[in-house]
Amino acid sequence: MNNDELKNTAIATQCIQGGYIPGNGEARTMPIVQSTTFKYDKAADLAAAFNLEVPTPMYSRLGNPSLSWLEEKIALMEGGVGALTTASGQAAIFYAVMNITKAGQHILAMTNLYGGTHTLFGSTLPKMGVEVTFVHPEMPAEEMKTYIRPETRCIYCEMLGNPALDVLDLDKMAAIAREAQVPLIVDNTFPTPYLCQPIKHGANIVVHSATKYLDGHAVALGGVIVDGGNFDWNNGKYPELTTPDVDYHGLVYSEAFGPAAYIAKIRAGLLRDVGATMSPFNAFLINLGCETLAVRMQRHSENAQKVAEYLAQHDKVEWVRYPGLKGDPSYELAQKYLPKGCSGVVTFGVKGGAAEAQKVIDSIKLITLVTHVGDLRSHMIHPASTTHRQLDDAAMIEAGVYPNQIRFSVGIEDIDDILADVEQALAQV
Ligand code: PLP
Repeated sequence: MNNDELKNTAIATQCIQGGYIPGNGEARTMPIVQSTTFKYDKAADLAAAFNLEVPTPMYSRLGNPSLSWLEEKIALMEGGVGALTTASGQAAIFYAVMNITKAGQHILAMTNLYGGTHTLFGSTLPKMGVEVTFVHPEMPAEEMKTYIRPETRCIYCEMLGNPALDVLDLDKMAAIAREAQVPLIVDNTFPTPYLCQPIKHGANIVVHSATKYLDGHAVALGGVIVDGGNFDWNNGKYPELTTPDVDYHGLVYSEAFGPAAYIAKIRAGLLRDVGATMSPFNAFLINLGCETLAVRMQRHSENAQKVAEYLAQHDKVEWVRYPGLKGDPSYELAQKYLPKGCSGVVTFGVKGGAAEAQKVIDSIKLITLVTHVGDLRSHMIHPASTTHRQLDDAAMIEAGVYPNQIRFSVGIEDIDDILADVEQALAQV
């Protein structure tokens, strides 16, 4: 089957079969094309490649077959018209926003974002002249709309906030973005396309830290941007996509690439000029991770559900957040948007405070202390003193981070062994 035919298959099949399709006598598994450059016979052939007339590689900063195969697979899984891989999730987020934003313009973002994204938006983008307003994702739609300005370029959200674990109300956010005629960009790192496909619910652009569940083995940094192909760039607000680009000899992206104009512009612009490109080896590793994504996400979700239920009845635990837990503030939204499971991250507060939470972390034996989520191994971290320590107290609370909080990335080990380790660690407090 080719990638077009695979559009009619289930996502568990796309994870395995999508992207690289071998021809007769070619390698069955996706090759690593470890070459920075590509050979052409005639000057006209390379000129056509530089003119973006044919989708063919010329220099690996701008594209490489291994990256293209992974991009095709992830675009297929997310239901987009095209994708672009980057060196990290942070690079993907930066490119996704800056592809359509410049100094003097504005973006609307949520308060509950991953700490690194919060710093990128709250500190780095303002230094580049871009204003960012943070609003709480649960703010009523009518109130949220009042924060949209004529120069607002996009709305940026996380599908499952890291680490607050609020499930995004996609219908609400997509309606606000549609009315404002700006694209809705959704970070889908925690659910992955196996558990949720935001484009099908009205998101326009999806970004990922592929470093997390897509890789799944804690071996490769990477990011991905997926273009839903469902935004009308011809609405008069995005001349950078609909009028000639002087930096690309007059190319008009919307004319040359139709619904995939946005993703083509990132490759021709920011990727070319800034060069945070994924390495072919990392594309190979992330592709390998994607092949087992469906079974891993099922098991991560099952284990995390059991961990959340166990913690909820533990007398050393003050509170638990997991969208699959009945009574969780995001339970109803999770039933709607994450019907197959709520992914592998659980957060909980240890009775006492930061010292007690750190004591639990100091006592784990099987679970390990690392700065990561989405690995097949179980990990814990204390966000207030690590991933979110750059935020002041008010921003920390807004981001859903508390002094006694532990973020638990539940792995796919045997659930009894995971629970036994949690039990003995809590007993030390
Ligand atoms: N988005 C989310 C939700 C994340 O959790 C992270 C990293 O933890 C990122 C983006 C950044 O990705 P990366 O570490 O691959 O740059």
